[in-house]
Amino acid sequence: MRVTLLGTGDTTGTPTVGCNCETCQAARERGVERTRFSVHIENEHTGESLLIDASPDFRYQFLRDDVSLPDAAVITHIHFDHLDGLGNVFRLLDELTVYAADECDPKTGKSVAQTVADDYHYLNAVSVSPTTPFEPLSVCGLEVTLLPVAHPPLVCYGLTVTDPETGGKLSITGDTSYGLSAHTREALADPTLLLADGIVPAHLCAHHPIGGRDYHEGVPYTFGTKHMTREGALALADELNADRARLVHLAHYYPADEAFEEPLAVDGEQYVL
Ligand SMILES: [Zn+2]
Ligand SMILES: [Zn+2]
Ligand SMILES: [Zn+2]
Repeated sequence: MRVTLLGTGDTTGTPTVGCNCETCQAARERGVERTRFSVHIENEHTGESLLIDASPDFRYQFLRDDVSLPDAAVITHIHFDHLDGLGNVFRLLDELTVYAADECDPKTGKSVAQTVADDYHYLNAVSVSPTTPFEPLSVCGLEVTLLPVAHPPLVCYGLTVTDPETGGKLSITGDTSYGLSAHTREALADPTLLLADGIVPAHLCAHHPIGGRDYHEGVPYTFGTKHMTREGALALADELNADRARLVHLAHYYPADEAFEEPLAVDGEQYVL
């Protein structure tokens, strides 16, 4: 499978609109960017494509990276930066099956699947397939498993995508703190490629209204309650024994001299697993 990182930024992206911070300026100078989160996965054996999350930057991402339109999609959770691009499929696709979790979110009283179905009831192309976490399903000739993660107050899911032809395994943490359950960690383990939420470096927790969480030897692995720090994401990559890890969902708050260091991803990176 061919994995294209369509969007590697947080909800404002880098550069951020109206921002002239050193990191946004450095991105412009280098000609790199981090649009809102999305991953494109092409099964090269079947020619089918699976989209992970519908970025508000959908149209731009597909034009820029020249990838094929999706045959199916997964929505990890209902935040704007992961869901609100779904309307882009209007007049582009006749049929798109969207896989999303079937568990009721106590916060909304609905599952992610139900919210997607309600929000896009007017789009005939979209049909939602409620999906049970931890139960693998076959999509586009790939094995896909949704995994609950920790992104309070909403339910949110990471996932694994395995290519049965090559044995390649992609693990995506989704938007999450370091507080992942043992069951989810076990399922994410031993990936060929890990995409981990590492929104900011740990030292920026000093600027968060509630600071950091999940301290290990004085270093916070969680930023606030919703995302991992760079250090948390790197520790998770280590613990999961990832062959390769890229940090994603990155904010422009990374200082300019740290924002483009390895293993921080930028848009357009491709990996064949
Ligand atoms: Zn900026
Ligand atoms: Zn989110
Ligand atoms: Zn997000």
